[in-house]
Amino acid sequence: MIVNEIFYSIQGEGKLAGVPSVFIRLSGCPLRCKWCDTKYAWSPTSGDEMTVEQIEAEVVKHPASHVVITGGEPFASGQLKELTIALANTNFHITIETNGLKFIDGLKCNLMSISPKLANSIPDEPDLSEKHKKHIGDLTAMQQLMDNYKYQLKFVVDTAADLDEIAQCIGKLENVNPYKICLMPQATTRSEYITKSQFLAEICKRTGFALSPRLQVLLWEGQKGK
Ligand code: SF4
Repeated sequence: MIVNEIFYSIQGEGKLAGVPSVFIRLSGCPLRCKWCDTKYAWSPTSGDEMTVEQIEAEVVKHPASHVVITGGEPFASGQLKELTIALANTNFHITIETNGLKFIDGLKCNLMSISPKLANSIPDEPDLSEKHKKHIGDLTAMQQLMDNYKYQLKFVVDTAADLDEIAQCIGKLENVNPYKICLMPQATTRSEYITKSQFLAEICKRTGFALSPRLQVLLWEGQKGK
């Protein structure tokens, strides 16, 4: 499989925020979110070919019990299941970060971290925009992921207008546990992050959803490999 990067950092988002973790960033993603902070991993060839054994050998060099498989979009990689099985055999806690557009059965995964994409992610280019809308409008795979794995839903919020869309998305899904939903600010700089987190905190107080940090923005403003 093509690996964009492997690095040791702390989980920046969601219920495991702050936990030291090794990140395996797999290459390739079918979406082109306009605020994507890992555009360098979009191409399926944006990295080095590595075997599952080579990836595992790299991961165990770091003093972490948690591994985060991210991207790009990990479900776009052919050997995702084999990778999770190998990591689970070494007793890693495995989080998979995904946009929720594809389902694979039988993954070893302790936390399926799903980030449903809203209209605020739609790219400006007309041809990309149409494709993007078609992808994000189908919640079939997301429902399967939620039904088969321990999950969290992380929504990236840009403005208060996104709240209606989040409500619609949740309304289309079945058996959603509201305690597994968190909202994160769409931000690339520290100052934008703080301003939007403050506004989002008020929304979370009203809706009961959790406010997720994005520590990678707060601490490093999204630098690659952090
Ligand atoms: S799904 Fe994730 S990796 Fe793909 S374009 Fe959107 S934010 Fe970037």
